[in-house]
Amino acid sequence: MNTSDLLRKAAAGERLSPEEGLQLYTQADPEALMAIAHELRLQRTTPGVVTYLVDRNINYTNACVTDCQFCSFYRVPGHPEVYVLDKRQIGEKIEELLAWGGTRILMQGGHHPDLRLSWYEDLLRWLKATYPEIELDCFSPSEIEHIARLEGMSMEEVLVRLQRAGLDGLPGGGAEILDDEVRKRISPKKIRTAAWLHAMRIAQRLGMVTSATMVIGFGETMAQRVKSLTRLRELQDESLAAHGNGFTAFIMWTAQLSHTNSLGRSRHRHKYGAGYNEYLHTNAFARIYLDNVTHFQASWPTQGLETARRALYAGADDFGSTMLEENVVSQAAAYTQQEPRMTVYRLHEQIRLAGFTPAQRDSRYRIVRSFDRVMTPTELAPRPIPTRLNGPTASQFVPVSLVG
Ligand code: SF4
Repeated sequence: MNTSDLLRKAAAGERLSPEEGLQLYTQADPEALMAIAHELRLQRTTPGVVTYLVDRNINYTNACVTDCQFCSFYRVPGHPEVYVLDKRQIGEKIEELLAWGGTRILMQGGHHPDLRLSWYEDLLRWLKATYPEIELDCFSPSEIEHIARLEGMSMEEVLVRLQRAGLDGLPGGGAEILDDEVRKRISPKKIRTAAWLHAMRIAQRLGMVTSATMVIGFGETMAQRVKSLTRLRELQDESLAAHGNGFTAFIMWTAQLSHTNSLGRSRHRHKYGAGYNEYLHTNAFARIYLDNVTHFQASWPTQGLETARRALYAGADDFGSTMLEENVVSQAAAYTQQEPRMTVYRLHEQIRLAGFTPAQRDSRYRIVRSFDRVMTPTELAPRPIPTRLNGPTASQFVPVSLVG
């Protein structure tokens, strides 16, 4: 099939084979792909509306034994900057989020060598009891594999225990490129492709909220990106057919390289990274190729506001979240170093500037609040809530001993 025929096939919403996808991705005009991706987004989600989430990332520890070459966030055990947050610190962050009308936390951390499953269970139980209205989307397949290895358990056993303790969702972090040639090169100690997919397969079977992600700019080929997307698409088909619960969204960003991580300092630095045109091109292609995923997020923390607004015309229907806090990508060259947090008002402003109406959603993309008029900064300002940290549970705030 020639490229014009493939463009017609894509515009009709028909599924592309991996070979057809690669041809379209490498040979079609990126502007044409963006136009088709936008049209598909209008057909598959509510036209005129761009959703967002009010949440925050809480990075409970930066101790990690996995040494990914693109990571600026982690500290090796024993480093003086290693930390583990205690319940009070986490609770204070959640109370700030509640003041902003937030509905979810995304809690992730490094692969801590000493935190056992019981520590995670205890934390989740306390969070659910203290803040029942907050959705707990926590950890990632690589953290689950790490805990399973520490405990000598299967990933399924770990996920079942964590779900019983209060876990609502497993975010799709750590996918990077789902191809082991790339993974062995940039993160040789991290979870491999098959295990990442298997963790997600289990989480979806258990009914959890999950997301699919991809990070580009690790010197991978375009064929490897298509392979990564194909694996996500296959799992999505399998999970939707088996129990109707698959990835709620696809989120893509570019590797954040700087002098603070090994890839950024590498003498081969010129081989890594990806610009905003490549981001938009790839996002548009992914919207076309992942025909079984409904929602696509624009990533303002890594791409900046202008590119994120343009992504709303390249397949994205969601502006991500306020991210009252983010510590992982922000350690490198991400946009969040300039604007570390986004207020709800500023997020509305960006969505309206792009020509859409904002709507607040939860992690399952159910609308929490619609806005039929432009809101003032005062109307969208935080409203402090009484603290829940002084009750009988206060005695539980035992700090975790730092990694020695
Ligand atoms: S990306 Fe995650 S697993 Fe890799 S070094 Fe950083 S904190 Fe550790």
